[in-house]
Amino acid sequence: MFYVSTSCPTCHQGMVGFCRYQDDTQLGLMCQRCETLYSDPEHLSSGHGQYPPHDAVSEAHPARWATQNEIEMRGWLSFIEGELVPDSHD
Ligand SMILES: [Zn+2]
Repeated sequence: MFYVSTSCPTCHQGMVGFCRYQDDTQLGLMCQRCETLYSDPEHLSSGHGQYPPHDAVSEAHPARWATQNEIEMRGWLSFIEGELVPDSHD
């Protein structure tokens, strides 16, 4: 999971990662803790970028985290702050 911020503007605890919505090809951002969705990394810090509205969140629930290639194609590569690598038990 590539993340844009380690401090979600909504819950102040979760990481906000790049995600891909299930219903279309649009990329967005989602907090991995409170699952608040954001549309745009440029407006993340203001807390006004939430997308879609809360009543539509369940229908637009992201299918998965976005890949680096998808983020690059969207033009958001420069917004990547880091990558969270899942724990490995090898
Ligand atoms: Zn959050």
